[in-house]
Amino acid sequence: MNKLLSFVVACLLVTGVQAQRLPTSERYNANDSFEQLGTTLPTPNTYRTASGAPGREYWQMRADYDIKAELDDQNQRITGTETITFFNNSPDELRYLWLQLDQNIFDKSSISGVTGTGGIGPNGATPRQLQSLSSNGSHGNKANSEYGYNITAVRDKAGKPLPYTINNTMMRIDLPTPLKPGANVVFGVDWNYYVTDYYGRSGYEFFEKDGNYNYFIAHWFPRMAPYDDVNGWQNKQFLGQGEFALIFGNYKVAITVPNDHIVAATGECQNYAQVLTPTQRQRLKQAETSKVPVVIVTQQEAEQAEKGKPTGKKTWVYKADNVRDFAFASSRKFIWDAMQTDVYGNGRKIWSMSYYPKEGNPLWGQYSTRAVEHTLKSYGNRTFEYPYPVAISCHAVPGGGMEYPMISFNGGRPEPDGTYTEQVKYGMIGVIIHEVGHNFFPMIVNSDERQWTWMDEGLNTFCQYLAEKEWDFNYPTRRGEPIQIVDYMSSDKSVLSPIMTSSDNVIGLGPNAYAKPATALNILRETVMGRELFDYAFKEYANRWRFKSPTPADFFRTMEDASGVDLDWFWKGWFYGVQPVDQALVNVEWYNLNTQNPEIEKALAREEAARRAQTMSKIRDAQNKDKTVVAQDSTMRDFYNSYDPYKVTPADRQKYEEYLATLTPEERELVQNNQNFYTLTLKNQGGVVMPVIVRMEFEDGTDSVARFPAEIWRFNDQQILKVISTKKKVVQWTLDPFNEIADIETSNNSFPPVQKPTRFQLYKQQQRRTPNPMQQEQQSGGAGRLGSGSSNK
Ligand SMILES: [Zn+2]
Repeated sequence: MNKLLSFVVACLLVTGVQAQRLPTSERYNANDSFEQLGTTLPTPNTYRTASGAPGREYWQMRADYDIKAELDDQNQRITGTETITFFNNSPDELRYLWLQLDQNIFDKSSISGVTGTGGIGPNGATPRQLQSLSSNGSHGNKANSEYGYNITAVRDKAGKPLPYTINNTMMRIDLPTPLKPGANVVFGVDWNYYVTDYYGRSGYEFFEKDGNYNYFIAHWFPRMAPYDDVNGWQNKQFLGQGEFALIFGNYKVAITVPNDHIVAATGECQNYAQVLTPTQRQRLKQAETSKVPVVIVTQQEAEQAEKGKPTGKKTWVYKADNVRDFAFASSRKFIWDAMQTDVYGNGRKIWSMSYYPKEGNPLWGQYSTRAVEHTLKSYGNRTFEYPYPVAISCHAVPGGGMEYPMISFNGGRPEPDGTYTEQVKYGMIGVIIHEVGHNFFPMIVNSDERQWTWMDEGLNTFCQYLAEKEWDFNYPTRRGEPIQIVDYMSSDKSVLSPIMTSSDNVIGLGPNAYAKPATALNILRETVMGRELFDYAFKEYANRWRFKSPTPADFFRTMEDASGVDLDWFWKGWFYGVQPVDQALVNVEWYNLNTQNPEIEKALAREEAARRAQTMSKIRDAQNKDKTVVAQDSTMRDFYNSYDPYKVTPADRQKYEEYLATLTPEERELVQNNQNFYTLTLKNQGGVVMPVIVRMEFEDGTDSVARFPAEIWRFNDQQILKVISTKKKVVQWTLDPFNEIADIETSNNSFPPVQKPTRFQLYKQQQRRTPNPMQQEQQSGGAGRLGSGSSNK
């Protein structure tokens, strides 16, 4: 015991000494960067292979839903009843089922509601901020206690009540007999809840001017939580930031709404004949063969409907197969346009559609549906063809967007006068591409959003970046370029979390889970792997996990497995760490070979001697050069006054010929080429190892770029020497000349250092003195003396 203790103390002491020399944050072992991830990744098994593919015994659960729901426009309330058929495809027996009750996040006592943190600053707070700091915030016009689910029945197939327990946003249903592997269970849930004000993922938007509501309804029915080989039941509570973990199934949904509403939903409508007018059906028919969007409900008709009142109800029936969720939108304000096109040129037609209030025009009519179709095409080319029959973009509130299978709710709204900024235009097209793009990740490549935000947001933002550039060469992309992540990567480490962080704990969700992984993938594609290897591997990942549920390891492994590129160092640096990239070119030493050629060497020696002879006293004495004894008296001269030691003699030439004769042809070429050799001292100051890309600008004005894979750091990931040989003389060296590795500090990338001025503004003299009340009174004509009552202006 004692011995062990003293050993521990000794270790602590040693560590302490080292720590003093090198701060912990900067200490990392040379060579460590290229060690494999090994046990950091889960052990492969028969469900998930070491290659990153689904294993031979891969399984996943399935749930089919039959839902009937009614939207109460008077009270903004949804009432529903559902029958769920849950298929146990696992090898395990289940004694209970877990369902997600995500609407319960709006309940006053929800975990999300009571765990918000932050203080009241010295500048005060608005009543709304105060409310959200001290409780759940306001999500609409109801008291918080009225939000969340009212579960009115949980029953078995025969209608008999099933015991259940609600734990915040989760509900456990206890089964009377365990559900055997391969068996299924049918049960029902009835519920109702008040719709909240749109909060970013779902809710209503109220239009004060015309008194109407647009509804964007999502996570609205109790849904099965996944049970899988990774988590067992994924019953992590809904805290708001981590999105949804879901399983696939077939849906039949009947939605009853006021009869002047237009409904948009996941899946295909089964009864247009009952819910649309003959004119609308006629236009839809026309849209089946149109290459441009056809307006099904015109703006004029929508504006007319805004002023009217419903005379009854209508039920819209939808069917959607093999989806992980179901969402819908409903309003009398909706304009609707659509086109059914052969997106992939394979004869299969897909509907691209948009629903928006007049407040979205002119932007929405011009761009939305075209952006939907473009997204299917662009994403399809780098993953797989979009398998669903329809893709919809709805215009929800001004900013942001939210995705569900086949349908998305997107921002981007012009000013009331119809004008809009460039930012609103590109923001709107970008958000539509992003949210429609989510159909691929995570709606089809069904990653666990509750656990890993980056797996869908990162991959999707990367594809969005590429799709935007395919929309317009000059598209002002916001995320994806390495240079755009530099600010985030330069931030204080206390506010950085690794990409591999659970969704709900991520600090800075936008840069961390969207921009950083998207940038990392772009760097992989352009700089580390090359487009061909990357695109093949990325497509392989998408196809392996299409309609299945991958984990991060499945992605990391597949990218290596399909490309033959060792990427463990990259995943460690970019996904498991928070360190930035900062390479520095601290020194360059220039060497060239002594050729032994007297023509070259003697000329160089002459130059050097001349240089050394140029002293200040010589320069000053030059004017008296003719007054020296030797200059004035020629008898004082001899052989050495005219002897040129640098003149090439036949003996010199003879000696050189003899030397050349001793060399092999290769050695002779090297000697005769007069090659330049440069030793570069490179430092990895940021911590993340990356390829080294260096531009050489030559004396003659031309340039050339040398590229070295990241493995250049494998024997020392802090500092290396690298020799580069060139025929031409290099006058300027620059690291990362095309901004491709997200180097956070470029002032140390040049050798010799290049000076860039810091621009400053010339201010006129500013008076920042403490106000002098007496002077102010005098300047205002002494009004103050008359008393405060007379100072009305
Ligand atoms: Zn997203």
